[in-house]
Parts: sequence; structure tokens; C-alpha cells
Amino acid sequence: MATCSSSSSGSEEEDEGFDSYRKGGYHAVRIADSFAGGRYIAQKKLGWGQFSTVWLAYDTQSSKYVALKIQKSAPEFAQAAAHEIEVLSAIANGDPSNEKSVVRLVDHFKHVGPNGQHPCMVLEFLGDSLLRLVKYNRYKGLELNKVREICRCILVALDYIHGELGILHTDLKLENILLCSTINPSKDPVRSGMTPILERPEGSGLSGATSNIIEKKLKQRARRAVARISEKRSTMEGVTHASAKPARCLDGIDLRCKVVDFGNACWAKSPIAEEIQTRQYRAPEVILQAGYSYPADMWSFACIAFELATGEMMFTPKGGEGFSEDEDHLALMMEVLGKMPRKVASSGVRSKDYFNRYGDLKRIRRLKYSSLDRLLVDKYKFSDTDARELAAFLCPILDFEPEKRPSARKCLQDPWLNIK
Ligand code: ATP
Ligand code: MG
Repeated sequence: MATCSSSSSGSEEEDEGFDSYRKGGYHAVRIADSFAGGRYIAQKKLGWGQFSTVWLAYDTQSSKYVALKIQKSAPEFAQAAAHEIEVLSAIANGDPSNEKSVVRLVDHFKHVGPNGQHPCMVLEFLGDSLLRLVKYNRYKGLELNKVREICRCILVALDYIHGELGILHTDLKLENILLCSTINPSKDPVRSGMTPILERPEGSGLSGATSNIIEKKLKQRARRAVARISEKRSTMEGVTHASAKPARCLDGIDLRCKVVDFGNACWAKSPIAEEIQTRQYRAPEVILQAGYSYPADMWSFACIAFELATGEMMFTPKGGEGFSEDEDHLALMMEVLGKMPRKVASSGVRSKDYFNRYGDLKRIRRLKYSSLDRLLVDKYKFSDTDARELAAFLCPILDFEPEKRPSARKCLQDPWLNIK
């Protein structure tokens, strides 16, 4: 399996890069291209990642929209796809009624194109990621009832993959949780009443990659023009843009969501990679190389819950003069969660690089100790009660000792999830 410890999916601001459309790379898709002997018809590009481009496609057999993930063709990507298909098949087989908040694999096949043979996964079509939801909410924390609703979905998924299948996700983060529907109803092919495109529109001779780039340039130009106009307007009105707009209301948005991207998932009994998880969501035992299992996913889950509630990442470590990003990360963790017990601090292959024999960090001294509930009150302006209750839910999941962290099943029974 090709592993990547900090996978980065395509953001709306960037595109996947023209250069990767070559032998071994992405497959260029045009609207109305057909796949699997005509069963699936490409409608529009939904996103991309380091391994694939993902297209909205119409399934002519079921008359439903699906997400078609078309992997790069080089052997390492094909191998990664085979692994992801194996994991997704186990997930689908164990949940026939599709109620466990995990993305469903509908079908898979290979597609031969000019750049090689591309493994393709057909997934149920889902909406925007939680990252987009937080951006849409202008990086303000979501109302706590909404955070609870999302947390419940993620925990159902984790309870299922951990408890029933023995699978670790290893890359939980906001980008890898998708809402079941789009934020904007007009972007949802079903709710907007979109008619499926079954044939190539006339005069569309360009390849998908080329037309994407042209479209992007036009959009960029339009955005700049709009920005220039709004800048003028706000100077005239004497207000800045940011302060003029309140956070949008999220009422009416369906917050049911599902866990996606099992490209780095593994069976707990045979972990593959030494380093897992995207930096900000990485558990201390992973940093220390002390072995990992389900509790590492639980750590990332707690970081996600914090981010939903505050609009900011829980830990954003940076390397500095005389200390590494790992050391800064450990220091940030201890500042909110207290000193790491010596037993844990000394338990990993990397322990001696970071800690002295007293269990203190070697290169970062004088930590500013606080606590999670203080942070929620002081920095994020939570009420005392909200802060206390959220911290009581999160702190056990952020226990430095992985064995002490509650399982997803246990978290599902936590009273915090049922506060009205
Ligand atoms: P990564 O670089 O994260 O490993 P990847 O190549 O494995 O990426 P994914 O993360 O699975 O690809 O998907 C890339 C993007 O495609 C996602 O960020 C999302 O925008 C979109 N996407 C993926 N699956 C779906 C789906 N089922 N429904 C709708 N959009 C999807
Ligand atoms: Mg991804």
C-alpha cells in the first residue's frame, strides 16, 4: 500500500495540476465520458486527491448519481486502490443496510486510457466536507447541538469499523468526513433536479484537464473583478468586509455525515505504516512511536470535535529554533492537558530524543500550563457550563495513555451527547 502520513486532498483554491495528467498519472475525463461499458457517465468533477480525481457520474443502471473515484495508474497507486477496495468491501459487506455512517462502495472496475489502466471506485455520492462547513461558517465554532449531532455520526462509524471490523482509519480530519448532502441545495444533483448528461455536449472538443484549467482561469478573473468592486464599495461605506458579514446560519443544513477516504486505513492487528495521521490530528503515541491502535483514531476524533466547536484546530505545531515540530506538538498537548505521565513519555522509540529522564521535554522549557475548560472560556468565550461539559467529554478521549481512552462505543453513551 502506498502510505502517506499527511494526505492532502484538493482544496477549492488549487487544481490537481496539469503535469500529473501523464503516463502513470491521472486519467483525463471529459463530461459525458462513459465508464464500465457505458454504465457510468461523467457529469462534473467533484474533487481530487494525491491519488485520484473524483467525478460526479450518473449510473444508468440504477438511475442514481454516484461519485466515481479514478485512481492514477502507476503500480503504487493501483496497489493503494486495491487495498482501499478491500477495506471498503469489508465495510459494505458488514453493513448491508448502509446505516453505519461510512461511505458505501457501490462497484469497482478498471478503466484503460492513454495514461494506463486506472482502478476506479464507484462510491455513493456525498456532499461537502466538514472543512467546507466550517469555512462556510467563517471559522466560527458551530452551535454545540450541531457539534453533538456530527460527533454522534462519527462515533457510530468508529464504533462500527473498530468494534465490528477491527479497522483503523488512521487519517481522520475534517476533509475526510463528508456531509450526506451539499450545503447549497442547488449543488446537489438530486435536490436541484439536474437532468443527467448522457451525451457529449456539442462543440466540447477539449479534454477535461484543459477545459478545467480554462474554466478555472475564467473563474479566477471573475473573482478578481468581484473583489475589486467589493473593495471599492467597502471603502466607500467605510466598513471592512469581514466585520460587515455575520457568520451564516447553518439551520436547515442536513448535518448527517459519513467517514470517507480509507486509502490509509489498516487492520488493527497488522498496522502497516510507522507514521500515520495528518499532523494536527496525530496522537502522542504516534509521535513517540510507541505503537498505536484504535485509541489513535479516538484522539483524532477529539481534535475534530474541538475544531467543530471552536472553528480552530486544536493543535497547530510549528518547528522553531532548536526544537522540532514534534517537540512543539508535545509541548502544546501538555499545555492544555497537563504533564505527560513519565510512563507514557518514556514508552516510545523516539522518547529519548524528546524527553529527559525526569519526563521533561529536553528542548522546550517553561510550558504555559492551562486546561481545556480555561482555554474554552478565555480564548473561545464559552460559558463556564458549556466549557466544563465539553471538556469533561473530550479530556478522557485526550488521555495521554491510549489504553485509558474510552472506545467509540463508550463515548456514544456519554451524557454530553444527550444534553439538550
Ligand atoms: P487524498 O489525497 O486525501 O488521499 P484521494 O486521492 O484518496 O485523496 P479522496 O480524499 O477519497 O481522494 O477524494 C478526493 C476528493 O473528492 C474529496 O476531498 C472530496 O472532495 C471528493 N469526494 C470523494 N469521495 C466523494 C463522495 N463519495 N462524494 C462526493 N465527493 C467525494
Ligand atoms: Mg482525502
